[in-house]
Amino acid sequence: MSNGMTKLNELTIEEAARRLRARECSVRELWDACAEEAQKRNPELRAYLEIFPADDEAIAAAQKRIDAEGERAPLLCGIPLAIKDNILIEGKIASASSKMLENYRATYDASVVKKLKEAGALFIGRTNMDEFAMGSSTEHSAFGATKNPIDTERVPGGSSGGSAAAVAAHLAIAALGSDTGGSIRQPAALTGIVGLKPTYGAVSRSGLIAMGSSLDQIGPLAKSVADARILHEAIRGKDELDSTTIPDGLYPKREIPKTLRIGVPRHLLREGVDPDVLVAFEATLAKLKEAGHAVVDVELPASAHALAAYYIIMPAEVSTNLARLDGMRYGRAARGDTLLDDYIKSRTEGFGEETRRRILLGTFVLSSGYIDAYYRKADAARAVLRREYDKAFESCDVIAFPTTPSPAFKFGEKSDPLSMYLEDIFTVTANLTGMPAISVPMNTVNRDGKELPVGIHFTAPHQAEDVLFTVGNTVEKSL
Ligand code: GLN
Repeated sequence: MSNGMTKLNELTIEEAARRLRARECSVRELWDACAEEAQKRNPELRAYLEIFPADDEAIAAAQKRIDAEGERAPLLCGIPLAIKDNILIEGKIASASSKMLENYRATYDASVVKKLKEAGALFIGRTNMDEFAMGSSTEHSAFGATKNPIDTERVPGGSSGGSAAAVAAHLAIAALGSDTGGSIRQPAALTGIVGLKPTYGAVSRSGLIAMGSSLDQIGPLAKSVADARILHEAIRGKDELDSTTIPDGLYPKREIPKTLRIGVPRHLLREGVDPDVLVAFEATLAKLKEAGHAVVDVELPASAHALAAYYIIMPAEVSTNLARLDGMRYGRAARGDTLLDDYIKSRTEGFGEETRRRILLGTFVLSSGYIDAYYRKADAARAVLRREYDKAFESCDVIAFPTTPSPAFKFGEKSDPLSMYLEDIFTVTANLTGMPAISVPMNTVNRDGKELPVGIHFTAPHQAEDVLFTVGNTVEKSL
C-alpha cells in the first residue's frame, strides 16, 4: 500500500494519515481524488445517493490542524468518509433509501457524526442501502440497487451495500454502516473489505434511523482491520443521548492470549454452505494454526434457531419503530378522505414491499393472540443463545465461521424473501447476543470465471473487540 504509485483514493486511513502528516499530499488532494473517482464511477455503481460538494471550510480546517498538530492530530483528520443514508448529518437529507423520508433533512448530527467531525473527518456522501436497512442486497432501495464493484452483475450485499461498494471501489477511504442482523459484515464480505459490528451499546445509536433497536449498531466498513479499529475507536463510547450505551469495563476485561483458541462450530457447517467457501474457510483456519493459534470444536446447538428468532424479533421492533412514520407525525404525507385514508395512503406510497412485509409480520407476532407463541418464544431463544455463547467462550476466545454461505449473488437471484433471509444465517446471532463480530476477507472463490471475495467471521465476548482486531490482523497478514 505504501508504494508511491498508489492513487490517493486507494489509500487506507493509516497510510493517508501518514502521508498527510509527512506532507506528501494535502487534504484537498486526498478529497479531490476520492470525489473525482466517486463522480466518475457512481453513475454506474450507485454507491452514493448523493455526493456532497466539497466543504471548503472543513477541508481548510483539517489541513490547518494537521499542520499545527502534526502527529498529535487525530488519525481521521482530513479523511473523506462515506456515511450510510440512515445516519444523520445536520442539514443533509437522510432518507434511509425510502420514499417515506425522501425529503427529510436532518436537524442534528448523529452522535457518531459529531465525534467524527470533532476528529476532523470529512463526509463525501450518503450511501445507498436497503430501505430502512431491511435486506441483504441493496435491491430494496427505493432509489435503485447498488452494483458490486468486483462484478457489476452481482449485488454488493446489504443493507450497507452502498457503503461497502464505495469503499471497495475506492470512492471513499472508509465508511460507516449499520448492522441489525449482518448489514455491515455481509456486504463487507461480498465486496472484499473488512466490516465490524461492535458490542451492543459500544456505539451510540443517537441519530441512527432505528430498525430493530435491541439489535442495531453503527460500525465501520474499511479496507483493513487497522482502519476498522481506528474508526471504531473514534465513534465508540458512552453517550447521554443513548441510554443503552455502555461504559468501558462493564464486562470483565480479558487479556489477549498469545495463542488464541478459535472455536469452530463444525456442526453448523454441514449443509447449506458452498463447498468452495468451506475450502477457503478451512484454508484460513490452517493459516491461523500455522501462525500459532489453536482451532477447537465448539457446540452451539441453539444456533439452529437463531435465524427464526431474528426474523420474529426484528420485524416486531421494525413494526413499532416505523409506526411513527404515518404521514401525520413524521414522513411523507398523502391526503385521503378520512384520517384512516391519510394513514393508509401515506404508508402505502411511502413504504416499499419488503418494509410492508416486515411491518405486517411484526404486527402479527406482537398481536395479543400470538405474542406468546411467537415473540416471547423468540425472546426466550435469544436468552438461550446468549447463555450458549457465554458458555462456549469458557473454552475458546473467538468463534469462527464463514460470513456468508456463498459469494455475491446476481441481481434478482434471491427474489424469494426466504432465500434472501437465509443469507443472514451466520450473522444474526451476534446481534441477538449483543456480542461484537468482524468479517475479514479470506480466499476468493470462482463463479463464471470471476474471482469473488468471501469473508471469515469471528465473534468475541462482549467488549472484546480487541481480540477481533488481533485475529483479524493475523488473517489479513496470511493472505
Ligand atoms: N439482512 C438482514 C435483514 O434483512 C440484516 C439487516 C441489517 O443488518 N440491517 O434484516
